[in-house]
Amino acid sequence: MIVVKVGGSAGIDYDAVCADLAARWKNGERLILVHGGSGETNRVAEALGHPPKFVTSPSGYTSRFTDRQTLEIFEMVYCGKMNKGIVERLQRLGVNAVGLSGLDGRIFEGKHKDSVRAVENGKVKVLRGDHTGTVERVNTHLIDLLLAGGYLPVLTPPASSYDGVAINVDGDRAAAALAVALKADALLLLSNVPGLLRAYPDESSLIREIPAADVENYLEFAQDRMKKKVLGAAEAVQGGVKRVIFGDARNGQPVSAALDGQGTVVS
Ligand code: ADP
Repeated sequence: MIVVKVGGSAGIDYDAVCADLAARWKNGERLILVHGGSGETNRVAEALGHPPKFVTSPSGYTSRFTDRQTLEIFEMVYCGKMNKGIVERLQRLGVNAVGLSGLDGRIFEGKHKDSVRAVENGKVKVLRGDHTGTVERVNTHLIDLLLAGGYLPVLTPPASSYDGVAINVDGDRAAAALAVALKADALLLLSNVPGLLRAYPDESSLIREIPAADVENYLEFAQDRMKKKVLGAAEAVQGGVKRVIFGDARNGQPVSAALDGQGTVVS
Protein backbone atom coordinates (compact mmCIF):
# COMPACT_ATOMS: atom_id res chain seq x y z
CA MET A 1 0.00 0.00 0.00
CA ILE A 2 1.23 3.44 -0.91
CA VAL A 3 -0.26 6.65 0.49
CA VAL A 4 0.21 9.64 -1.79
CA LYS A 5 -0.41 13.15 -0.43
CA VAL A 6 -0.51 15.93 -2.98
CA GLY A 7 -0.53 19.50 -1.72
CA GLY A 8 -2.56 22.49 -2.64
CA SER A 9 0.09 25.03 -3.58
CA ALA A 10 0.51 26.87 -6.85
CA GLY A 11 2.23 24.96 -9.64
CA ILE A 12 1.09 21.43 -8.77
CA ASP A 13 0.16 19.47 -11.91
CA TYR A 14 -2.89 17.43 -10.87
CA ASP A 15 -3.24 16.00 -14.39
CA ALA A 16 0.28 14.57 -14.14
CA VAL A 17 -0.34 13.16 -10.65
CA CYS A 18 -3.64 11.55 -11.69
CA ALA A 19 -2.25 10.08 -14.94
CA ASP A 20 0.66 8.52 -13.07
CA LEU A 21 -1.60 7.22 -10.28
CA ALA A 22 -4.07 5.78 -12.78
CA ALA A 23 -1.36 3.90 -14.69
CA ARG A 24 0.01 2.37 -11.49
CA TRP A 25 -3.48 1.55 -10.17
CA LYS A 26 -4.33 -0.26 -13.41
CA ASN A 27 -1.11 -2.25 -12.98
CA GLY A 28 -2.51 -3.58 -9.72
CA GLU A 29 -0.76 -1.30 -7.22
CA ARG A 30 -2.90 -0.38 -4.17
CA LEU A 31 -2.90 3.37 -3.61
CA ILE A 32 -4.75 6.03 -1.65
CA LEU A 33 -4.64 9.70 -2.49
CA VAL A 34 -4.86 12.46 0.12
CA HIS A 35 -4.96 16.03 -1.13
CA GLY A 36 -4.87 19.64 0.02
CA GLY A 37 -6.29 22.84 -1.39
CA SER A 38 -4.71 25.75 0.45
CA GLY A 39 -3.89 27.92 -2.58
CA GLU A 40 -7.41 27.70 -4.03
CA THR A 41 -8.98 28.20 -0.58
CA ASN A 42 -7.03 31.44 -0.18
CA ARG A 43 -8.24 32.66 -3.58
CA VAL A 44 -11.90 31.77 -2.94
CA ALA A 45 -11.81 33.22 0.60
CA GLU A 46 -10.53 36.53 -0.80
CA ALA A 47 -13.22 36.50 -3.49
CA LEU A 48 -15.93 35.87 -0.88
CA GLY A 49 -14.71 38.78 1.24
CA HIS A 50 -13.40 36.64 4.10
CA PRO A 51 -9.63 36.69 3.51
CA PRO A 52 -7.47 33.97 5.06
CA LYS A 53 -5.81 34.56 8.38
CA PHE A 54 -2.64 32.65 9.19
CA VAL A 55 -1.30 32.48 12.71
CA THR A 56 2.13 31.47 13.97
CA SER A 57 2.37 29.57 17.25
CA PRO A 58 5.04 30.46 19.84
CA SER A 59 6.98 27.36 18.66
CA GLY A 60 7.01 28.66 15.06
CA TYR A 61 4.29 26.58 13.35
CA THR A 62 2.01 28.41 10.92
CA SER A 63 -1.64 27.41 10.55
CA ARG A 64 -4.88 28.76 9.13
CA PHE A 65 -7.15 30.35 11.75
CA THR A 66 -10.40 28.54 11.00
CA ASP A 67 -13.52 30.29 12.26
CA ARG A 68 -16.89 28.83 11.23
CA GLN A 69 -17.08 30.86 8.02
CA THR A 70 -13.54 29.89 7.06
CA LEU A 71 -14.39 26.25 7.74
CA GLU A 72 -17.33 26.47 5.33
CA ILE A 73 -15.18 28.05 2.61
CA PHE A 74 -12.51 25.43 3.33
CA GLU A 75 -15.09 22.65 2.84
CA MET A 76 -16.38 24.19 -0.41
CA VAL A 77 -12.89 24.12 -1.86
CA TYR A 78 -11.32 20.99 -0.35
CA CYS A 79 -14.38 18.68 -0.39
CA GLY A 80 -15.97 20.33 -3.42
CA LYS A 81 -13.83 21.81 -6.15
CA MET A 82 -10.52 20.11 -5.34
CA ASN A 83 -11.87 16.68 -4.36
CA LYS A 84 -14.34 16.40 -7.22
CA GLY A 85 -11.79 17.78 -9.69
CA ILE A 86 -9.41 14.98 -8.78
CA VAL A 87 -12.13 12.31 -8.77
CA GLU A 88 -13.28 13.49 -12.21
CA ARG A 89 -9.73 13.34 -13.59
CA LEU A 90 -9.34 9.77 -12.29
CA GLN A 91 -12.77 8.74 -13.62
CA ARG A 92 -11.85 10.09 -17.05
CA LEU A 93 -8.72 7.94 -16.88
CA GLY A 94 -10.85 4.87 -16.18
CA VAL A 95 -10.20 4.60 -12.44
CA ASN A 96 -13.22 4.21 -10.17
CA ALA A 97 -12.26 6.81 -7.58
CA VAL A 98 -14.38 7.80 -4.57
CA GLY A 99 -13.83 11.15 -2.89
CA LEU A 100 -14.41 11.54 0.84
CA SER A 101 -13.43 13.91 3.61
CA GLY A 102 -12.19 12.81 7.00
CA LEU A 103 -15.68 13.57 8.35
CA ASP A 104 -17.24 10.86 6.22
CA GLY A 105 -17.31 7.66 8.23
CA ARG A 106 -15.06 9.53 10.71
CA ILE A 107 -12.05 8.38 8.72
CA PHE A 108 -9.92 11.04 10.44
CA GLU A 109 -10.70 11.79 14.09
CA GLY A 110 -9.10 14.11 16.61
CA LYS A 111 -9.65 16.57 19.41
CA HIS A 112 -11.29 19.92 18.61
CA LYS A 113 -9.02 22.81 19.55
CA ASP A 114 -11.21 25.87 20.04
CA SER A 115 -8.41 28.31 20.86
CA VAL A 116 -4.97 28.86 19.47
CA ARG A 117 -1.94 30.68 20.87
CA ALA A 118 -0.58 33.05 18.27
CA VAL A 119 2.31 35.47 18.17
CA GLU A 120 1.13 38.89 16.96
CA ASN A 121 3.47 41.91 16.99
CA GLY A 122 5.84 40.06 19.32
CA LYS A 123 3.09 39.26 21.85
CA VAL A 124 1.39 35.92 22.50
CA LYS A 125 -2.40 36.16 22.14
CA VAL A 126 -5.12 33.55 22.59
CA LEU A 127 -7.60 33.45 19.69
CA ARG A 128 -10.92 31.68 20.27
CA GLY A 129 -13.48 30.20 17.87
CA ASP A 130 -10.93 28.06 16.01
CA HIS A 131 -12.07 24.84 14.34
CA THR A 132 -8.81 22.96 14.20
CA GLY A 133 -7.21 19.85 15.58
CA THR A 134 -4.78 17.05 14.85
CA VAL A 135 -5.64 13.59 13.59
CA GLU A 136 -5.22 11.20 16.51
CA ARG A 137 -7.21 8.25 15.24
CA VAL A 138 -7.78 6.81 11.77
CA ASN A 139 -10.84 4.61 11.28
CA THR A 140 -9.90 2.43 8.35
CA HIS A 141 -13.08 0.37 8.04
CA LEU A 142 -14.64 2.44 5.27
CA ILE A 143 -11.32 2.59 3.40
CA ASP A 144 -10.95 -1.18 3.64
CA LEU A 145 -14.47 -1.59 2.19
CA LEU A 146 -13.67 0.74 -0.70
CA LEU A 147 -10.37 -0.94 -1.50
CA ALA A 148 -11.98 -4.39 -1.32
CA GLY A 149 -14.63 -3.15 -3.76
CA GLY A 150 -11.99 -1.93 -6.21
CA TYR A 151 -12.42 1.82 -5.55
CA LEU A 152 -9.51 4.23 -5.23
CA PRO A 153 -10.13 6.45 -2.16
CA VAL A 154 -9.41 10.18 -2.57
CA LEU A 155 -9.34 11.76 0.89
CA THR A 156 -9.18 15.32 2.17
CA PRO A 157 -9.51 17.31 5.40
CA PRO A 158 -11.53 18.29 7.40
CA ALA A 159 -11.52 15.62 10.07
CA SER A 160 -14.20 14.90 12.65
CA SER A 161 -13.79 15.80 16.31
CA TYR A 162 -14.77 13.16 18.84
CA ASP A 163 -18.07 15.09 19.11
CA GLY A 164 -18.64 15.01 15.36
CA VAL A 165 -17.62 18.64 14.72
CA ALA A 166 -15.68 19.37 11.53
CA ILE A 167 -12.09 20.39 12.26
CA ASN A 168 -9.39 21.64 9.97
CA VAL A 169 -6.35 19.37 10.23
CA ASP A 170 -2.99 19.36 8.52
CA GLY A 171 -3.16 17.16 5.44
CA ASP A 172 0.45 15.99 5.62
CA ARG A 173 0.08 14.77 9.19
CA ALA A 174 -3.32 13.22 8.37
CA ALA A 175 -1.69 11.33 5.48
CA ALA A 176 1.09 10.22 7.83
CA ALA A 177 -1.47 8.90 10.36
CA LEU A 178 -3.26 7.10 7.53
CA ALA A 179 -0.02 5.54 6.28
CA VAL A 180 0.73 4.28 9.80
CA ALA A 181 -2.81 2.91 10.28
CA LEU A 182 -2.67 1.07 6.94
CA LYS A 183 0.91 -0.13 7.51
CA ALA A 184 1.80 1.46 4.18
CA ASP A 185 5.09 0.64 2.51
CA ALA A 186 5.63 4.26 1.54
CA LEU A 187 4.20 7.73 2.09
CA LEU A 188 4.78 10.30 -0.66
CA LEU A 189 4.41 13.98 0.25
CA LEU A 190 4.24 15.74 -3.11
CA SER A 191 4.37 19.51 -3.39
CA ASN A 192 5.68 22.35 -5.57
CA VAL A 193 9.34 21.97 -4.55
CA PRO A 194 11.87 19.23 -5.45
CA GLY A 195 11.94 18.08 -1.81
CA LEU A 196 13.34 19.46 1.43
CA LEU A 197 15.82 22.20 0.56
CA ARG A 198 18.75 22.96 2.83
CA ALA A 199 18.68 26.60 1.71
CA TYR A 200 15.09 27.29 0.57
CA PRO A 201 14.35 28.48 -2.15
CA ASP A 202 17.64 27.33 -3.75
CA GLU A 203 16.55 24.15 -5.55
CA SER A 204 20.16 22.99 -5.97
CA SER A 205 20.32 22.61 -2.17
CA LEU A 206 18.04 19.53 -2.22
CA ILE A 207 18.62 17.15 0.68
CA ARG A 208 18.55 13.71 -0.96
CA GLU A 209 18.50 11.37 2.03
CA ILE A 210 17.56 11.59 5.68
CA PRO A 211 18.08 8.66 8.05
CA ALA A 212 14.75 7.86 9.74
CA ALA A 213 16.18 8.26 13.23
CA ASP A 214 17.41 11.79 12.42
CA VAL A 215 14.40 13.33 10.72
CA GLU A 216 13.48 15.72 13.53
CA ASN A 217 16.96 17.29 13.29
CA TYR A 218 15.99 18.47 9.81
CA LEU A 219 13.12 20.61 11.10
CA GLU A 220 15.59 23.48 11.26
CA PHE A 221 15.76 23.64 7.43
CA ALA A 222 11.99 23.80 6.99
CA GLN A 223 10.16 27.09 7.19
CA ASP A 224 6.43 27.70 7.56
CA ARG A 225 4.28 24.90 6.30
CA MET A 226 7.21 22.70 5.31
CA LYS A 227 7.67 22.07 9.03
CA LYS A 228 4.43 20.08 9.12
CA LYS A 229 5.71 17.84 6.34
CA VAL A 230 8.90 17.07 8.25
CA LEU A 231 6.83 16.43 11.37
CA GLY A 232 4.49 14.17 9.38
CA ALA A 233 7.48 12.27 7.98
CA ALA A 234 8.83 11.77 11.50
CA GLU A 235 5.46 10.49 12.72
CA ALA A 236 5.18 8.11 9.77
CA VAL A 237 8.62 6.51 10.12
CA GLN A 238 8.25 6.32 13.90
CA GLY A 239 4.92 4.57 13.29
CA GLY A 240 6.55 1.91 11.08
CA VAL A 241 6.25 3.31 7.53
CA LYS A 242 9.45 2.23 5.80
CA ARG A 243 9.94 5.17 3.44
CA VAL A 244 8.67 8.74 3.27
CA ILE A 245 9.56 10.73 0.17
CA PHE A 246 9.15 14.48 -0.30
CA GLY A 247 8.65 14.75 -4.05
CA ASP A 248 7.94 17.25 -6.81
CA ALA A 249 4.38 17.35 -8.23
CA ARG A 250 4.95 20.05 -10.83
CA ASN A 251 5.40 17.82 -13.88
CA GLY A 252 6.44 14.47 -15.34
CA GLN A 253 5.42 11.36 -13.44
CA PRO A 254 5.40 12.66 -9.87
CA VAL A 255 4.42 9.40 -8.13
CA SER A 256 6.83 7.16 -10.06
CA ALA A 257 9.68 9.66 -9.77
CA ALA A 258 9.26 9.87 -6.00
CA LEU A 259 9.07 6.08 -5.69
CA ASP A 260 12.29 5.91 -7.75
CA GLY A 261 13.91 8.04 -5.08
CA GLN A 262 13.79 11.47 -6.72
CA GLY A 263 13.29 14.04 -3.98
CA THR A 264 14.14 13.72 -0.30
CA VAL A 265 13.99 10.13 0.90
CA VAL A 266 13.49 9.48 4.61
CA SER A 267 14.22 5.84 5.44
P1 ADP B 1 1.39 21.86 -0.08
O1 ADP B 1 0.18 22.73 0.09
O2 ADP B 1 1.76 21.64 -1.51
O3 ADP B 1 1.34 20.60 0.72
P2 ADP B 1 2.91 23.70 1.52
O4 ADP B 1 2.73 25.03 0.88
O5 ADP B 1 2.15 23.36 2.76
O6 ADP B 1 2.68 22.58 0.45
O7 ADP B 1 4.45 23.46 1.84
C1 ADP B 1 5.40 23.50 0.81
C2 ADP B 1 6.08 24.86 0.80
O8 ADP B 1 7.00 24.94 1.89
C3 ADP B 1 6.93 25.11 -0.41
O9 ADP B 1 6.18 25.61 -1.48
C4 ADP B 1 7.92 26.15 0.11
O10 ADP B 1 7.42 27.45 -0.17
C5 ADP B 1 7.92 25.98 1.61
N1 ADP B 1 9.22 25.67 2.23
C6 ADP B 1 9.68 26.21 3.38
N2 ADP B 1 10.89 25.73 3.70
C7 ADP B 1 11.22 24.83 2.74
C8 ADP B 1 12.37 23.99 2.56
N3 ADP B 1 13.40 23.99 3.41
N4 ADP B 1 12.36 23.19 1.47
C9 ADP B 1 11.32 23.19 0.61
N5 ADP B 1 10.23 23.96 0.74
C10 ADP B 1 10.16 24.78 1.80
